[in-house]
Order: sequence, then C-alpha cells, then structure tokens
Amino acid sequence: MTGEGTRAVRAGLPEAVKNEPTLPGPVFAAHFHLPGDVSGPYSYGRDSNPTWTHLERAIAELEAPGEEAHTLVFASGMAAISAVLFSQVGTGDVVVLPDDGYQALPLVREQLTAFGVEVRTAPTGGDAQLDVLEGAKLLWIETPSNPGLDVCDIRRLVAAARAQGTLVAVDNTLATPLGQRPLELGADFAVASDTKGMTGHGDILLGHVTCRDAELAAGVQRWRKIVGAIPGPMEAWLAHRSLATLQLRVERQTANALALAEALRARADVAGLRYPGLPGDPSHAVAARQMHRFGSVVSFDLGTKERAERFLAALRLVEDATSFGSVRSTAERRGRWGGDAVGEGFVRFSVGAEDAEDLLADVTRALDLSLDDA
Ligand SMILES: *Cc1c(COP(=O)(O)O)cnc(C)c1O
Repeated sequence: MTGEGTRAVRAGLPEAVKNEPTLPGPVFAAHFHLPGDVSGPYSYGRDSNPTWTHLERAIAELEAPGEEAHTLVFASGMAAISAVLFSQVGTGDVVVLPDDGYQALPLVREQLTAFGVEVRTAPTGGDAQLDVLEGAKLLWIETPSNPGLDVCDIRRLVAAARAQGTLVAVDNTLATPLGQRPLELGADFAVASDTKGMTGHGDILLGHVTCRDAELAAGVQRWRKIVGAIPGPMEAWLAHRSLATLQLRVERQTANALALAEALRARADVAGLRYPGLPGDPSHAVAARQMHRFGSVVSFDLGTKERAERFLAALRLVEDATSFGSVRSTAERRGRWGGDAVGEGFVRFSVGAEDAEDLLADVTRALDLSLDDA
C-alpha cells in the first residue's frame, strides 16, 4: 500500500489512455446511448454518471485503503446522512442519535419521529450513547462532535452495537478520511459532508456514504435514485480535483490548528478552549487512539456576545462565516444560529492554510482589541 499523500494525488484515477487527460473532464449527460436491452453501467443520469464513478472510487480508496468498499456521492452532506437513515430504518425501529451533533440533526429527528421511528439521544462525550443503545436498529455517531468537539470511543460503541446487531454510522466530516477511518474502527457506514475539509475551498456542496457491505450500499443507492439527491457532474469533478491536494491541505491546516490552540491556551482571557489534538484536552486520550489527525476546528469562549463580535470584526485574515474546512480561515459566533448548547461568546474557528505566524498574529491582535470595549 502506498503512502497517504500518494494515495490522495492518485485516488480514483482511471487507467492511463494515450492522448486522454489524467482525470477525465466532467461528463454532462442526462441520458446515454442505449440501443436495445438495458445493459452496461450508464443509462440515465439520475442512476449513475462516469464522473461520479471516478470520484466514488477515489473516496473509497481513501476511506478504506487496500480494501473493497462502495462509495455513493450525494448532492450534500445532509443528502448522504438522510440516505443512510431513511434507507436503513423503518416504522417501529429505534435510532440513537447524538444530542450535540450537527445542527440539522434535530430536524432529521422530527422527520424520523413523524415516520414512526423511536429516536433516542445522548451526548457524544463519555460514550453516553451506550446507555440508550438497547434494541436499536442503527447508532449514529458524530466524532469529533460539531461544534463542541467532544469525542467518543468508536471501537467501544461498535463492539456494543455489534453484540446486539445494531448498525453503526459515523459522521466523519470533521476528521476527513486522512484524520479518521470509521470503517477500520468497525463502523458499517462512513458518512460525510464533503462541503467541508474534503473539498476544502468553500465553493461546493457535496456528500458521500462509504460502506463495505454490498447490500447496505444497494439500499443507499436505491434511496439516492428515489430521492434524486444527486451531485452535478461539475461539482463531482471539482471535488475529485480537490482531493489531489487533500493531504497537503489537511496536514497544513491541522498543524495550524494545533499552533492556534497552543497560543490560545496561553491566554487568560480565553475560556473553554477545545481542540482534540491538544494534550490535556478532555477528548485527547480517546482521540489519539482512533484519529491520525485531529481536524482543523478549534473552539473557545470569549464570555460575551459583544466581545466575540468585537473579536470577529477585528480579524483581517479570517472571514466571519459558517462552515469549516476551507483553506481560508473562517470563524463565527456559533450562538447566532440558536440550537447548539453553547454560550453567547462561543466561537467556532476553522483554521485554514495560511502561514501560521500570520494567522496567530492576526488572532492575537484581534483578541487584544476585543478586550477594549470602548
Ligand atoms: C456541514 C455538516 C453536515 C451537513 O452537510 P451539508 O453538506 O451542509 O449538507 C453534516 N454533518 C456535519 C458534521 C457537518 O459539519
């Protein structure tokens, strides 16, 4: 098996063909030539597309290096998440969700409940989902959780789930497959919003589901066909192109994130600092056992809404924007959305690929300025 940088730049490339590009361009087709009986891989554009196929092979090689795995790409992370839940779960089943995960999960919970699914929730930290697992059809894990950055022990949760026939899906958005590989830790599904670090430029929405089991994959694929939550060929191609730099981006961004976390730790005016890669963080011990890299998100609390807003306004290199994982740093006061259990001064900071010295200087200057409420 090759190293991960090599894997990233070569992931999903087709056999080289003389006079053809290394990565074939996007195929724009609603339908394909189909004489006679239906056969072959491509017939109608909602079912399959060669540009998706290349990207799906690439993601499968990253989520499950050296193994057989099936990936399905979707129009967004939520399309991928919904595909797993709604294809695998039916009326009367029990689903366990985190209560501190992505902000659209409560909406998913409402819809599952409306369909007669029993939904139980528990926090990510302390593996608390174990306490409500009994009899569940599917366990949904998000680790590190967004935006609180708590971490649960995937192997431990998988072992308990396995013992009673519960399926396990892991939202791997924050870590990316270069930070954490849920399938190797025993999960049935690795799911992600590729809107974030996977594509890394803050310019496309995309999602994926990867699993080893062909039957589970077929159920997810059937759901995609029914709902039609398919990515455009241009987005799929841009995503594949972006994967070539995944290792470079993630390496730089995680190094910058650790440097930022260390700088923030040294300041008495910053509270509630969380970064799973920081020794001493409550998540660090578990994270270090199951993660290869700790992600590009750092969170902290500046006490009040006013101070957090002064800080965000004073930043020059960091845009006040939601989402995370971009090569350009962004930060936001998470409480402005409502819904997350965070304080008014809580800041979620997504660390980009700038030079660390520039970024730290900008953050330090903005923190100093934010102290001054004149
Ligand atoms: C952004 C995000 C999603 C949703 O992805 P979209 O691409 O916006 O639909 C799901 N889970 C996590 C952890 C996310 O950060």
